Amino acid sequence: MKISIIGSGFVGATSAYALVMRGVGREIVLVDLDRTRAQAEADDILHAVPFASPLLVSAGGYDDIAGSKVVVISAGVGQKPGETRLELLERNVAVFRDIIPQVCRRAPGAVLVVATNPVDVLTHAAAHIAAEYGFPSSRVLGSGTTLDTARFRALLGQHLHVDPQHVHAYVVGEHGDSEVLTWSLATVGGAPLEVFSRQAHVSLGKREMEAIEQGVRNAAYRIIEGKGATYYGIGSALTRIIAVILGDQRAILTVCTPVDEVAGVRDVTVSLPFLLSGEGVLRRHPLPVSPGEEEQLRASARVVRTAIDQLDLK
Ligand code: NAD
Repeated sequence: MKISIIGSGFVGATSAYALVMRGVGREIVLVDLDRTRAQAEADDILHAVPFASPLLVSAGGYDDIAGSKVVVISAGVGQKPGETRLELLERNVAVFRDIIPQVCRRAPGAVLVVATNPVDVLTHAAAHIAAEYGFPSSRVLGSGTTLDTARFRALLGQHLHVDPQHVHAYVVGEHGDSEVLTWSLATVGGAPLEVFSRQAHVSLGKREMEAIEQGVRNAAYRIIEGKGATYYGIGSALTRIIAVILGDQRAILTVCTPVDEVAGVRDVTVSLPFLLSGEGVLRRHPLPVSPGEEEQLRASARVVRTAIDQLDLK
């Protein structure tokens, strides 16, 4: 099964590497404006194949993405000095207006997976553009807060000395400052957090929860300050999303896709637990969050909707 990645910078190339390491898919095509970079990344990753899984890895143009089952969009432009967030967003929407039509024409049966930031707003824009080519919005999704959910689980698991795969806790809302950690619903091995931490003799009071919350919220800022970009976490998250789609695995992941309404905010794209299949998003799983978390989710959805309102999506 073919996976194409548009934008083979840090995020795109790391995703391709993770796909090879995990043996997900059969063929990867890297596409980038910088063809030399895409070719170099493809060559480098191909040389890992004899140590990992037998995937075909190449660089190409849009004609080479025909027949893709999944197309990842991790292309984007960086912030220029003095540029506002809105100006940056408008430039990335312009990049999407260039990319999405070419993807829709060449790979009409694909599921589109957006990673470029701000991922929720750009997934909304991508779905809007793809709809002009007959793509249902269920086949356009963004990585959303999949990464933030992983960060929440990783920090909780580390604190409680338990494999994070046995921690069930979701981050929902915007992939950004207003995201919501749904503490009220978190469980470990089927037990509420409070019960599990007591049994494990690990303190999990206000102070520890605040430290974990800040660790999740500030993760990207800290990593970017230390090494300029984040890519291993998102590369792994994208690999998981792609594996679920290719294998029709029906996993529940906090991706984002346009929905009619979230916490009273209409026509918006934010992350929630969605059931994912080979055809993209199957359905949404409303979370019975606490009233305080519902209020935070409303505020978060408004942040995204306000950004969408500023775009000219006609
Ligand atoms: P990068 O600069 O290393 O790579 C971006 C690539 O996009 C470049 O190689 C560039 O040549 C290419 N590109 C730009 N315009 C293009 C076009 N029109 N067609 C094809 N390719 C084009 O950046 P990165 O570190 O890989 O990050 C990529 C995006 O992913 C950024 O928006 C970043 O914020 C985002 N990101 C998202 C998450 C998440 O959780 N969703 C996490 C980390 C990074």
